[in-house]
Amino acid sequence: MIAFILCNNLANNRNNRLACILHLPNMRFGPIPLICLTMFAGGCSVIKQTPEACAHREWSHKQGGIVSGTWQQRIERTCQRLSPAIPCLVIKPYVLDADDLSAYSWPDGEVFVTRGLIDAASPDELAAVIAHEAGHLIAHRRRSDATAMLRGRQSHLNPEIQADALGSVILADCNIPTTAMLHVLLKVQQATAPNDPSYALLCQRIKTIQQKQKMEF
Ligand SMILES: [Zn+2]
Repeated sequence: MIAFILCNNLANNRNNRLACILHLPNMRFGPIPLICLTMFAGGCSVIKQTPEACAHREWSHKQGGIVSGTWQQRIERTCQRLSPAIPCLVIKPYVLDADDLSAYSWPDGEVFVTRGLIDAASPDELAAVIAHEAGHLIAHRRRSDATAMLRGRQSHLNPEIQADALGSVILADCNIPTTAMLHVLLKVQQATAPNDPSYALLCQRIKTIQQKQKMEF
């Protein structure tokens, strides 16, 4: 298992986009954060880990357990693909042995993607999944709930929209089409029963992204 310390510099226009998404005045991305980012601007570091290092083994066991092999390689390649865009962020990716289309993140940087979602997603869509979870890690470090989900939780619309938007910024910075976020959410929606509590939330997020994309074109 690999923990990726993902670092990069932020350009001013990107600061403004992030400030807007995080509902912060642009001045909050002033000299102090830029000094911090400059310190890490040299690139990303990779720390080797073993599956036993997973801090949430009991939880992951309830979700189907952890698998490795080609799925793990795909998710690690995806993290490396995103690494130039994510400042000072540690992501420890794991694969859950489950057929459903889900992803979860913990505040400590552990990100879990199901085998089913890795099989269903294109490389760009898998990047969108990780970028969305990275969005949670950036925006919701002090969140009270243990895990954040790609599907989202009922009544948690704003954090999901925020993570989608931050994820799209990360994708754009890596020259990955931001439409991948919409496409993967559509796949998750199609695999979700309409009576599932997350279905209505997914519909609202998809609508928000479609409206934003219409405004951009
Ligand atoms: Zn989410």
